Amino acid sequence: MDLTKKSIQKIIDYCEEHGLDFQSLPEIIDEPKVAPMVRGIGFEYVIKNYLINLLKKNDNLTVKKEIINSQLTVKGDDLQIYERDTKKSFSLECKLAKNNSFSLGTKNKKYSHCSIKVMRSRTLGDEIIKRLSKKGEATIEELKSHKDSYLYNHFDLVITNLRNAFYITNEDKKFIFRPNDEEWSFLENFCNTNNHSKIDNDLKNNHYFANSFDLAPISKNNICNRKKCPNPNDCKFIPNYPVFRFDELGKVWKNLKYIEKYFSK
Ligand SMILES: [Zn+2]
Repeated sequence: MDLTKKSIQKIIDYCEEHGLDFQSLPEIIDEPKVAPMVRGIGFEYVIKNYLINLLKKNDNLTVKKEIINSQLTVKGDDLQIYERDTKKSFSLECKLAKNNSFSLGTKNKKYSHCSIKVMRSRTLGDEIIKRLSKKGEATIEELKSHKDSYLYNHFDLVITNLRNAFYITNEDKKFIFRPNDEEWSFLENFCNTNNHSKIDNDLKNNHYFANSFDLAPISKNNICNRKKCPNPNDCKFIPNYPVFRFDELGKVWKNLKYIEKYFSK
């Protein structure tokens, strides 16, 4: 049996096991409540397979995905890369660009950019705030003013894909990839082709990574704009929507195909 047939059989078995209609599955995964989760977790697997393929000849780096029930633990990585030479494990957080967040430039940001959604889905509760402050990660005041943000040391790298920045909600309330004319002409330039299906493929197959530290104001790349932030210039929290600058590719955000360079430093 080929892999596709095997996967279909597994889904049929899954539906039978849980008393679900196999025929309804396409509608179920497209439900507004379900689709963002399927796409978010689906992206983790896309990156896992991308990295396994990219690093298959690299015997220093190994990709791992441990499935963790995040309700039981404080920390669960999306993916890990283990570096044999240093015996270190690096945690990777996979986050899609924010829907419809592309801009050719605004008053304050005069360059083409989009936003990456890197916020917590569950905000920090008082218990965890106490625990983190005791560990010396941040003060209670700092944690309370960034309840829905990640400290930069929560993971090592953030991995993203930009295609979502060109998603809109259509007439049927469905999320779909649909750049407008202005965006298409930007993308034609960015991807160096007029072929729209090639551009779509480029967006699907090119991923970017950033060092978590470089996304936080402490790196001096930006300033925290939280009203109650006690130290906006040295803030250790990753903004909920860090900016991806198309004009500075390779500075904070780098193409994931160059990930090996990050480790060979
Ligand atoms: Zn801050």
